[in-house]
Amino acid sequence: MPRFADVILPAAVPGVFTYALTDELGPVLPGMRIVVPFGAGRKLYGGLVTRVHDVRPEGRNVRPALSVLDATPLLEPVHLQLWQRLADHYLCSLGEVMLAALPGPMVLTSETRVTATALTAEHAARTPRAALLLDALEQRPAITLGEAGELLQVKDPLRAMKQLLDDGAVALEEELRSRPVERLVRHVALTPEAADEASLHAWFDRLARAPRQLALLMKGIELGRWLDNGGGPVAETRLLKAAGAERRHVEELVRKGLFIVTERPADRPPARPGSGSPTLSPAQALCLEEMDAALKDHRCCLLQGVTGSGKTEVYAHLIERAVDQGGQVLYLLPEIALTTQLIVRLRTRFGDRVSVFHSRLTARQRADLWSGILRDPDAHPIVVGARSALFLPFRHLRLIIVDEEHDPSYKQQDPSPRYNARDMAVVLGELMEAPVVLGSATPSMETLYNARQGKYGHARLLERFGDSVLPSVELIDLREAYKRKRMQGHFTPELLEAVQRTVERRDQVILFQNRRGYAPVWQCEQCAHVPNCAHCDVSLTYHKRSHELRCHYCGRGYPPPTACPSCGSRRLKMIGLGTERIEEELAVALPDVRVARLDQDTARGKHALERLMHDFAEGRIDVLVGTQMVTKGLDMERVNTVGILSADRLLRFPDFRAHERAFQLMGQVAGRSGRRGVQGRVLIQAFDVAHPVLGHVLTHDVDGFYARELEHRQAHGYPPFSRLVRFTLKHRSEERVEQAARTLVDLLRPDLGDRVLGPETPAVAWVRDQHIRNVLVKLARGIYGREKQVVRAALDRLPDELPEGRVRLIVDVDPG
Ligand code: ADP
Ligand code: ZN
Ligand code: ZN
Repeated sequence: MPRFADVILPAAVPGVFTYALTDELGPVLPGMRIVVPFGAGRKLYGGLVTRVHDVRPEGRNVRPALSVLDATPLLEPVHLQLWQRLADHYLCSLGEVMLAALPGPMVLTSETRVTATALTAEHAARTPRAALLLDALEQRPAITLGEAGELLQVKDPLRAMKQLLDDGAVALEEELRSRPVERLVRHVALTPEAADEASLHAWFDRLARAPRQLALLMKGIELGRWLDNGGGPVAETRLLKAAGAERRHVEELVRKGLFIVTERPADRPPARPGSGSPTLSPAQALCLEEMDAALKDHRCCLLQGVTGSGKTEVYAHLIERAVDQGGQVLYLLPEIALTTQLIVRLRTRFGDRVSVFHSRLTARQRADLWSGILRDPDAHPIVVGARSALFLPFRHLRLIIVDEEHDPSYKQQDPSPRYNARDMAVVLGELMEAPVVLGSATPSMETLYNARQGKYGHARLLERFGDSVLPSVELIDLREAYKRKRMQGHFTPELLEAVQRTVERRDQVILFQNRRGYAPVWQCEQCAHVPNCAHCDVSLTYHKRSHELRCHYCGRGYPPPTACPSCGSRRLKMIGLGTERIEEELAVALPDVRVARLDQDTARGKHALERLMHDFAEGRIDVLVGTQMVTKGLDMERVNTVGILSADRLLRFPDFRAHERAFQLMGQVAGRSGRRGVQGRVLIQAFDVAHPVLGHVLTHDVDGFYARELEHRQAHGYPPFSRLVRFTLKHRSEERVEQAARTLVDLLRPDLGDRVLGPETPAVAWVRDQHIRNVLVKLARGIYGREKQVVRAALDRLPDELPEGRVRLIVDVDPG
């Protein structure tokens, strides 16, 4: 019986591809990767098998698979179902999902590099292939798999190099075997001859004048319980440390015949149990009961709890229960970099049972955690991670928590798949029959709507934990302050005074402005000329620290002109407000205050962010100025005052979600204050003090905000009353992109009518030398599935309708 396998290729190609399986390949199961050729030339991929069957595909010559990479599947059918659901929903290919889902080292293509690890003349003498490789790898540090294929004149260089790979003579730079190579570490044991009490006494005498060596023996007896177990292996590093000895002392004892050194897998450290959860407050206990009840009838439950109410404690109780029942827990966080604090809290509670998975880990570390979970699910019962942790090969997931579910960074922007991890977490919960908890103080409109509609359960925590209360929020009228010339830079006297008084009390301040750099516009006072980026249609932001003008769209830097390039005037002024400028103005106004800044520019580098957070926590910083990064998850005891420099900018953003985001950002940053004891204070500077959203922020009125915003969404047919698909078209030629956008609209309009909006020219319509047009489609809620087909069909037809092609099309379902 001929066998075939359908595989997903790690590339942005649609669909699955079928290959023939020859008998010599051995067993092939769904979830394993096989090496297959693709396209012309010698292109190779490690394709993931979705199905093994005996149906010969019609009409085509089926190429044979070359070799099998995995001894056991990397994932199970249920994980593949998640991939499929994601691809269907976000209109992307399974290959793109595969690239997002698998850690880099598990993705094999012709570009994967081969290096010589221990390739010697001896190997070369044995086979001509090894000689060829040695030759090539002496000239260059690495060659790609594709090049290896050319060199060895074979289709499957992996198979040709199998022996060398197995011997460790060559390695793939990204180790891809899924039988994970365990990290081996040196262990020290007694030689059998020495391993009894009498011999050891003799050794004590012999080593009397070699104190380090004697110490090694004594510590070995103590740590390795050598008298009880016949001298079994002890990790060398541990022994050296305990004995205050060095490796050469061990080597000496090996020479003398007392020790043997072996390489063994590192012992898994005994799971530290952690300290367990503290007792819940009555309100929290009630909330937990509510959630239990809700999760009986619903797969998914919203936990709406004000900032500081102790949502984390409630999660901890749920986690504890799930783990006690032998289940796995996935705890999703929006941006892991800012949540060291939370991880520390969970680690204190659950010890080593907590693993962390996010993009700051090396690819190797991510691949290791993947295979760790695959091999021994019980070793990693709790995984805390950013969005890609969704794809880990969980076996018995019993709880999914999506913390700060409203956070926009759950949505991947680039590249495709542009998925929202919160929404996919709900799908994952459904597929694995695991309860899903969505938590936030300021839930997204979609989630709150689902809860109100009864689709999700809904539990609330309306009070802060302990003696802490919600902060008081005050508005400061900027129009008034400017008119009366009371401003000091961009500060009102009220805000400055509040900062000063807080610092005098030895408390701390957070100042929020959602724009980095010094000033976003650098303008000639004479002729009003504004320098723009040469490659984007946007003004350049001045960065004072580096003294350059920078484009925030393409990242290019420019030296600031000393005179206006248009009229030659030397009178240039800076307009607008970024975090750098706030930092500077504050240093001028209150010279004794210690100010630091938290934004993308200062949080660069591996430890910059941790250092900053640490200094703030230790009280070495009085005022932290920052972008939206300061709104997230900081739980600092001494933060008492929060200032928002200009609320108007948040509210006027040209996007239907602007009000929702503004409300969430202000609510979250306000929530950083007064988390212990004394009531905190939030001061909001705004021109439009009568803006209704500010009214809701003043009173912490989530319900009121929600009701009003929902009305607006309904009136204009925006989510949650529709689903949006946004198409972004890009091309160097404006004419081309305009024409392509019109063609797309023409394809969609017959079926979708006026729910197709555009083509629209966005506010910044030229970025990186590419002209941009948007087309927005509102899909009706009830008949969403059918309308999606219309969109899919239009996308399929678009290339034929555009003879000149090559217009880049980005499809974004549920744009953030
Ligand atoms: P949220 O995530 O809802 O903003 P947190 O979980 O950060 O709130 O809790 C706020 C603070 O209150 C934290 O410092 C936390 O340690 C403390 N806390 C909350 N609940 C309890 C509890 N049951 N016992 C002890 N401390 C608690
Ligand atoms: Zn000028
Ligand atoms: Zn630019």
